[in-house]
Amino acid sequence: MASSFLSTPIEFLKGVGPIRADLLKKELRIFTFGDFIQHYPFRYVDKSKFYKTNEITSDGAYIQLKGHIVDVQVEGVKQKKRLRAWFKDDAGGIELVWFQSLKWVYDTLKPDMEYIVFGKPTRYKNTFTIVHPEVDLATDGYLNNLVKFMPVYNTTELLKARGLDSRSLGKAMRTLFTEQKLFSVPENLPQPILQKYQIISREQAFRRIHFPIGNEEISAATKRLKFEELFLLQVRLSLLKLNRTKANRGYVFDKVGDFFNVFFNAKLPFALTNAQKKVVKEIRNDMRMDKQMNRLLQGDVGSGKTLVALLCMLIALDNGCQAALMAPTEILARQHYISLTELLGDMPVKVMLLTGSTKQAARKKILAALEEGTLNILIGTHALIEDEVRFKKLGLAVIDEQHRFGVEQRGKLWNKYPGTKPHVLVMTATPIPRTLAMTVYGDLDLSIIDEMPAGRKAIATYHRYDTTRYKVFEFMKNEIANGRQVYIVYPLIEESAKMDLRNLMDGYDMIEKAFPRPHYRISIVHGKLSIKEKDLGMDLFVKNVTQIMVATTVIEVGVNVPNASIMIIENAERFGLSQLHQLRGRVGRGAEQSYCILMTSHKLTKEGKLRIETLCRTNDGFEIADMDLKLRGPGDMQGTRQSGVLDLKLSDIARDQELVKLTRYAAQQLLTDDPGMQKPENRPLLEYLSQFDKGTSWSKIA
Ligand code: ADP
Ligand code: MG
Repeated sequence: MASSFLSTPIEFLKGVGPIRADLLKKELRIFTFGDFIQHYPFRYVDKSKFYKTNEITSDGAYIQLKGHIVDVQVEGVKQKKRLRAWFKDDAGGIELVWFQSLKWVYDTLKPDMEYIVFGKPTRYKNTFTIVHPEVDLATDGYLNNLVKFMPVYNTTELLKARGLDSRSLGKAMRTLFTEQKLFSVPENLPQPILQKYQIISREQAFRRIHFPIGNEEISAATKRLKFEELFLLQVRLSLLKLNRTKANRGYVFDKVGDFFNVFFNAKLPFALTNAQKKVVKEIRNDMRMDKQMNRLLQGDVGSGKTLVALLCMLIALDNGCQAALMAPTEILARQHYISLTELLGDMPVKVMLLTGSTKQAARKKILAALEEGTLNILIGTHALIEDEVRFKKLGLAVIDEQHRFGVEQRGKLWNKYPGTKPHVLVMTATPIPRTLAMTVYGDLDLSIIDEMPAGRKAIATYHRYDTTRYKVFEFMKNEIANGRQVYIVYPLIEESAKMDLRNLMDGYDMIEKAFPRPHYRISIVHGKLSIKEKDLGMDLFVKNVTQIMVATTVIEVGVNVPNASIMIIENAERFGLSQLHQLRGRVGRGAEQSYCILMTSHKLTKEGKLRIETLCRTNDGFEIADMDLKLRGPGDMQGTRQSGVLDLKLSDIARDQELVKLTRYAAQQLLTDDPGMQKPENRPLLEYLSQFDKGTSWSKIA
């Protein structure tokens, strides 16, 4: 097989052997020649240039000097022992210091020889010092082989101790390219793609990224390798999607009947926004096909996703099916239940609520009605995915705030049906930047509500320091006097749960003192309370019996109290950007001007400050998501970890957005043109993918 060279175990590389190979596997996860060749340099240093000792500045850059080493002395005792030497050239001198391998250095360095010294100078007292410089004899051979772009590789302390520093990794790399028999790197991208996008071959790219002779070579190689990473990812995702739609037939919802029409004409409390119309149309078209729909509906908090879900569920009913709506928390499920039954009014639609706290008798009734088919819409929490919950004919499953559910849980809701699978609509208020969605959720279809209902006032967001809290309290009192309500949210992070809870209780005491009964009343809700206690606290706030809600992030998701107009977030620097945005979305749901106040101490990291500033500047969830992606990198974004698709070595989803789009387009074009990758020029791609994704039988796709 053509690729066998790259799958050769790393111990067979000349000069590596079994012991170092073991270390390379453990430390850098390098198992084969192929892994090694993809251990790219993270930067290059210019070894063609020599500095003079009087040109050294303290900018922390690596430099190379040529001259003599004199006055080699060992100082100190035992662990504090070190070796100092003086390096001089015709412009002056600097100090060299070693803490290790003293004897070897001492025995090797000769005052009458000329040396090349390479390292990073640091200022120590009034002189520059290079600690542990690389030192080589300035022989003709050495001088003739100096390169402008010497690759620098990531390595580890353990590897260095075994002689595998960046430099010897570079040497081993050169051995691989020049001395290893049968060297071959087969192309894995189709020739037409290489031509169309002006991309160099795989072998050239590897060669150039390790041993470039100019910047142009580095960028050509980087372009090729990034393209490959992202293109392969997109092809794989598209194939997954193709496979899924092939395998899963779906109900054909070709009717729009009384349920939908009566509701739309007689019950809709307001005109749909254009964005809502657009996504309802997209979803309807999708459910009309005989394929199972798998769609992600993104819309900022308050953009009206619930209504969209209801309209889609009514279409399912019109086509003789049932629908389910699953929410991540009990509070949210109940809110959905209340708002849907209110919206439906006297329409003959039977809606019920099933959660962990549904009583046994009620549960029995619900389950019976569900199996009979007399129950049309079931709303609930995780309770919906339990085995005993059996629909007569589930046509549409809507999952709200999907990031709270694992992929597996999602699957469980529909995989228990042996025949036709229900359509699935996943709703999220966590905007995911489009490019990330294209990769992480590349196998889902995407609908976006990018418009807010008319008349919403932008939430005014401010940053305040703890030291001016009394002013914030004054402001709260004013708003409460005008009939408004206030949320105060504390962080509760699992790792420091005890301290956080303490913090919350202290905060509660302080607030109680500042807002005494009976004039003011306060609700408190956090994860350590029983469901009953939580519900009571929430309920009193919803009914406006309490004016202040002190809570942890349990209220983050979906809670709707339009009369609440102030959101105060304590220790705001401890929350992530998306989470802050979610929390802020709890206010601004009514007609009043709303406020979000981010409280912090004076101690703020640069990044914490940037997060706060971003939030004060904009209300646009997508802009915030983009910033979040930039700050945290894709590895930390919602859902990327579980997806496991983002094993990218060179590309960066945030920085390479254009390339993400380009490769997605290229992948889709290729698969439209040749879905089975059977054309001769596409065969290498198919072959590469089949060995890459063992267990997935790509060849069966056609
Ligand atoms: P989210 O997308 O965050 O789930 P909701 O569905 O809870 O948002 O809707 C937020 C609020 O906006 C609700 O009170 C809802 O009744 C209202 N709403 C939804 N669609 C519209 C619309 N087209 N015009 C006016 N208000 C709307
Ligand atoms: Mg919602």
